[in-house]
Amino acid sequence: MLKVKIISGTVDPLYDISNAARMCTNTQDKNDIRTRESFVRARIRNGEENLLEHAYVQLEISGISRSCLQQLVRHRFHVVYSVQSQRYVDQSNAEFVVPLSLRGTTMESQFLAFCGVALDNYKKLLERGVKKEDARYLLPEATCTKAIITYNFRGLRHLIRMRACPKAQWEIRNLAQEILRVVADKYGTDFFAEGLEVSNTANTKGLL
Ligand SMILES: Cc1cc2nc3c(=O)[nH]c(=O)nc-3n(C[C@H](O)[C@H](O)[C@H](O)COP(=O)(O)OP(=O)(O)OC[C@H]3O[C@@H](n4cnc5c(N)ncnc54)[C@H](O)[C@@H]3O)c2cc1C
Repeated sequence: MLKVKIISGTVDPLYDISNAARMCTNTQDKNDIRTRESFVRARIRNGEENLLEHAYVQLEISGISRSCLQQLVRHRFHVVYSVQSQRYVDQSNAEFVVPLSLRGTTMESQFLAFCGVALDNYKKLLERGVKKEDARYLLPEATCTKAIITYNFRGLRHLIRMRACPKAQWEIRNLAQEILRVVADKYGTDFFAEGLEVSNTANTKGLL
């Protein structure tokens, strides 16, 4: 099951970002907590997204498929990834992400059975002395993985822009929406998503 947990991050991103912006114009005396958020939102609308790089958040993400991970790691800027290794970590207890369109249908159990066959064969290869790094070639893209990812807020905004929108595939869109929810919850504001189109609906007809 998809889980997004905050490990660490900038304590007060709105302060750090607005303080940096105010320094440019020597107006730190106006960095009032009551106006900070609207000031930062205005900077974003003005195209000054580089200011968001002053803040970061580190997340632990689990319960996503390797297929989703493959989409996620295409984002190269303002982000650092550490992904659990299938070379070194035994996958014998692997779980699988069932595509949204199959959930609750008769295909759901068949899908899981097919994954189970792949997993059984993976285990047989291990028993016969094949290395984990080679046996893993049998595992489906649905296999769950986990990662620790650090975004600065500019990278986070870009992820939301590209992946929480209606065009993105359902799994990465669910992930991007969950990241937005968790981070907004933690800081009590979703200022970093200012002006972005965020989908609220499940879409099984994504492009990737
Ligand atoms: C709906 C959807 C469908 C997709 N379909 C496909 C597909 O069919 N096949 C496929 O291969 N990929 C596909 N992708 C992935 C897509 O092509 C990008 O690789 C991915 O979204 C990463 O985005 P990005 O280039 O903005 O990279 P990021 O690394 O997130 O970069 C962030 C921003 O930094 C800047 N930047 C990054 N690198 C450079 C650079 N080298 N030079 C200059 N500026 C840079 C750009 O402004 C970029 O937008 C799809 C993505 C989406 C959202």
